[in-house]
Amino acid sequence: MKQYKNFINGEWVSAVSGDTFTNLNPADTRETVTEYALGGRTEAQAAIDAAQAAFPAWRATTSPARGKILSAAANIIAGRKDELAEILCREEGKTKVEAGMEVGRTVDIFRFMAGLSYTIGGSVVPHDLPNNMLFTKREPLGVVALITPWNFPIALPAWKLAPALVSGNTVVLKPASQAPAMALELARAFDEAGLPAGVLNVVVGSGKEVGDELANHATVQALSFTGSHGVGHGIYQQLAPRMTRAQMEMGGKNPTIVLADADLDFAAKIVGLAGFGQTGQVCTATSRVIVNEKVADEFTEKLVEQAKARNVGNGMADGVTMGPAVSAGELKGNLDYIKIANDEGAECVWGGERLSEGDLEHGHFMSPAVIANVKNSMRIAQEEVFGPVVSVVKCGDFDEAIALANDIEYGLSASIITRDITMAMRYTDQIEAGVVKINQISTGLALQAPFGGVKNSSSNNFKEQGQTAIDFYTRVKSVYLDYSA
Ligand code: NAP
Repeated sequence: MKQYKNFINGEWVSAVSGDTFTNLNPADTRETVTEYALGGRTEAQAAIDAAQAAFPAWRATTSPARGKILSAAANIIAGRKDELAEILCREEGKTKVEAGMEVGRTVDIFRFMAGLSYTIGGSVVPHDLPNNMLFTKREPLGVVALITPWNFPIALPAWKLAPALVSGNTVVLKPASQAPAMALELARAFDEAGLPAGVLNVVVGSGKEVGDELANHATVQALSFTGSHGVGHGIYQQLAPRMTRAQMEMGGKNPTIVLADADLDFAAKIVGLAGFGQTGQVCTATSRVIVNEKVADEFTEKLVEQAKARNVGNGMADGVTMGPAVSAGELKGNLDYIKIANDEGAECVWGGERLSEGDLEHGHFMSPAVIANVKNSMRIAQEEVFGPVVSVVKCGDFDEAIALANDIEYGLSASIITRDITMAMRYTDQIEAGVVKINQISTGLALQAPFGGVKNSSSNNFKEQGQTAIDFYTRVKSVYLDYSA
């Protein structure tokens, strides 16, 4: 069992209360994977104070100097890739291949932002008068709070942390209680990389205490949140009276449209990857396939083959291609939705069952589910199911497919499978989503491209990732200089 304390002001500290909690392996609940000091409001306040005290000196460093620390941290994480992937796999449940890819992505994020550190500055704007200069300057905000979910426990904190730090902010990070180890491992890597004390603080504790304190504290200048819509919406309301800068990235109900001209083997493979990969616990996972009625039955059969081909088990074992749900609660939620779908008149044509043979008995396992005869008005088609559950909705022509795809409160990622470039381009124009994929899985993002949703998937104000990530973590000053005298 790995034991962790909170990381505040450059030190590993126990909770003032002395309380701890443990996390079990979702693939085998007989194994206690991690133990944490349970932080609360006191720890959150101490972390904010430390970040505030560290801000003037950190802000006075140059962005290339900060970038060098990001590079050093990236190298440390790369050197520990296998060790970190194993902890991640044991705590969150994804397969060791998926966990290794996530750690690798984290390294790339820090390297990308380290390179970008040489470009963060401002721009020269033409002045109206001769012998005058007009330029802009980017400045950090101060103490920023980051609140993250459990499903990408290292890459997701990293894609907030990298732009926050390189821009000169100091940070308090609150990871999800379900899988906080990776956030603390990031703190360890940055500490070893030479990050000054107080610049990064990580406090583990409940959202209702630690998260709430971060959302309410006047010192916090900006808060970037990723998680469910219900929680994100609530935090947004808390920040509004102080007009604290807020970035909320939330859930999805992502469609993949399959047109009649699509290669159905290819389409089923794409949907299988995007729906069942990472146990479907991905905000951009395909959960609705909107398929032309002429090919819907054939497509559904092929999708069932994809579901059957998933080898469900403990992600540490070779050959396993789908791990467990992260918790008993998530598993129950997934199974409940399958019952709701059946009750509403849809039909779970394959999977969707609790798996408990042999060692699976000790984990939160289910078979990936394919649900047919789904109407867009059903709850299974409208509400986020954060698991390996894919609904098939039949449609007529392209216009109906688009109307169904857009008839939803969310707008995160959306894919289309077609060989018709005209339809593909009409789709990019009309689909209401922040990420649009053509003949590609709805999951999987390029770290150099802006990422974020529309509608209820996002606060719709700032993007994450890519160069645009810097916008949220900086403010721009315009400077007028007259050298005519
Ligand atoms: P969640 O329950 O909303 O929790 C997210 C974070 O918020 C956790 O750190 C949680 O802490 C904290 N929190 C909970 N209540 C809070 C409160 N009242 N005040 C402040 N913080 C609070 O989400 P999750 O179950 O971890 O993650 C799954 C969700 O994340 C899904 O909806 C998924 O779509 C979404 N997601 C979105 C993206 C994206 O980029 N759009 C990416 C990944 C995931 P505790 O863990 O201590 O409760």
